[in-house]
Amino acid sequence: MITNLEENIEVKISRRGAGDMTNTQNTNFIENMINEDLKQGKNNNRVHTRFPPEPNGYLHIGHAKSICLNFGIAKQYNGLCNLRFDDTNPSKEDIEYVDSIMEDVKWLGFSWDDRLFYASDYFEKLYGFAVELIKKGKAFVCDLSAQEIREYRGTLTESGKESPYRNRSVEENLDLFERMRAGEFEDGSRVLRAKIDMSSPNLNMRDPVLYRIMRAHHHRTGDKWCIYPMYDYAHPISDALEGITHSICTLEFEDHRPLYEWIINNITINSHPQQIEFARLNLTNTVMSKRKLRELVEQGIVDGWNDPRMPTISGLRRRGYTPESIRDFCDRIGVAKSNSTVDAALLEHCIREDLNTKASRVMAVLRPLKVVITNYPEGKVEELEAENNPENPEMGTRIIPFSREVYIEQDDFMEEPPKKFFRLYPGNEVRLKHAYIIKCEEVVKDPESGEILELRCTYDPETKSGASTSTKKVKGVLHWVSAPHAIKAEVRLYDYLFLDSDETSDNPDGEDSSKARFNRNSLEVLENCLVEPSLSTAAPGSSYQFLRHGYFCIDRVPLRDDVIVFNRTVSLRDSWAKIQKS
Ligand code: ATP
Ligand code: MG
Repeated sequence: MITNLEENIEVKISRRGAGDMTNTQNTNFIENMINEDLKQGKNNNRVHTRFPPEPNGYLHIGHAKSICLNFGIAKQYNGLCNLRFDDTNPSKEDIEYVDSIMEDVKWLGFSWDDRLFYASDYFEKLYGFAVELIKKGKAFVCDLSAQEIREYRGTLTESGKESPYRNRSVEENLDLFERMRAGEFEDGSRVLRAKIDMSSPNLNMRDPVLYRIMRAHHHRTGDKWCIYPMYDYAHPISDALEGITHSICTLEFEDHRPLYEWIINNITINSHPQQIEFARLNLTNTVMSKRKLRELVEQGIVDGWNDPRMPTISGLRRRGYTPESIRDFCDRIGVAKSNSTVDAALLEHCIREDLNTKASRVMAVLRPLKVVITNYPEGKVEELEAENNPENPEMGTRIIPFSREVYIEQDDFMEEPPKKFFRLYPGNEVRLKHAYIIKCEEVVKDPESGEILELRCTYDPETKSGASTSTKKVKGVLHWVSAPHAIKAEVRLYDYLFLDSDETSDNPDGEDSSKARFNRNSLEVLENCLVEPSLSTAAPGSSYQFLRHGYFCIDRVPLRDDVIVFNRTVSLRDSWAKIQKS
């Protein structure tokens, strides 16, 4: 289901101003819970959150929602937010991901100050708590195979069966667990399990696995460990060790909350974080799971994690999205308790709104057609003044050269125009933006192929833009670049990665094939574009509005030095604004 956010109360809630935090009409359910805790003086009135990514891929826009939420809540309540790498599964994790995650969180505008943590820093403590659970008779070493554990677990309708190893003595368990750590046993041959309740209606409580044997090199602890804690065990303890008060996670962990509580309640620790679940962000026309995104990267379907079509933070950055636009998007979608899919048009709307006041308007011709102005003196160059942004006069003006030869857009000319075509055709007059009115006098074609090679036009010197003599009105205004001054550019136009929506997005581990759904026309490269010379000194990452074409960003990954490469961030057509109006 695609939510029409107009009708979604959460949106209105999230667009509130600062205001009174105890007024429940203006707060979301997480804030309500925190307000209640503060009223009761819980946690000594501290608010401490964390963002806990697993370094097994690059962050995506869904993570941005979690980052904005966790860091945002901390800021709002004068609290703290930690960055913690949940690096408990070395087989999939890598330092490359750690670095990219830090870069992305910073770029989004958030700071963890000196509170950067790794779950792996707690391995010794986690081990100690496991020993405590064993001593209390609340954990045991189990020799069943993974397959057997699954079979013994039962189903939603059928209670599970106790492991034959469940009643091992504390001494035997302590000995076996120590030897697991010492590397005496094969990978997968034994696990440590919590002793909870095999008949619990909640499958997570049926003696869940806490530790597994896995000989894998860890990017921080090296080969020190051959047993690794499970997420459900490591996470609550890491939260408690850091004094986290509100552990905000996504909805799929709701059924894990009783286990989270069980772990905290059964170890000796002076801290009791509260797990709170919210609905994960799903977006139309893309996928939002690191596993599926990694597939696209590894199969070479896209050009890396930062391919501008990817919903990753690094992809959005390369595409030309700003941190402000992403934060605005996260604010508008709000937080809810039930899953839904947000229209990608809303994200596009947010970047348009941001760039509208920030980006200079410039002229770029993507598919050039030469125009010779026959009555304009050869060798003459005029410097025309052009405003940079009519929405933001403070951005000033710049100089554009005008000369006898210019390029216009191929589709701004038609030899045999249909009705209501107000652009250039034989005998018709149009204005060249910021310059003069020209009239098409002649079409020069290749005698063999019939291809249009150039147009011969005349200009009216009395019609200079802004001049008092300029009273003539024409319907068409075209963008153009001066031929001898233009700079070569490559322009990459993007379409959605997927044309359909991800039916399995509520279930990120759904088994559809990303490759099969991939939109093969999602990238169009235009190699012979021309842009105005003011762009010659523009820096990678800077954004412009190409008049009539949309917003473009200079690629941050320079592959060529002979041309400037632009990525189209978004077109000018705003379907979200239309949805809102209708
Ligand atoms: P993925 O399913 O994409 O691999 P994940 O949940 O495994 O994501 P983590 O690195 O564990 O990725 O996520 C870090 C934090 O970001 C978690 O608290 C998680 O709940 C949150 N998060 C992940 N995906 C989303 C999403 N789509 N919307 C909101 N929050 C998300
Ligand atoms: Mg995860």
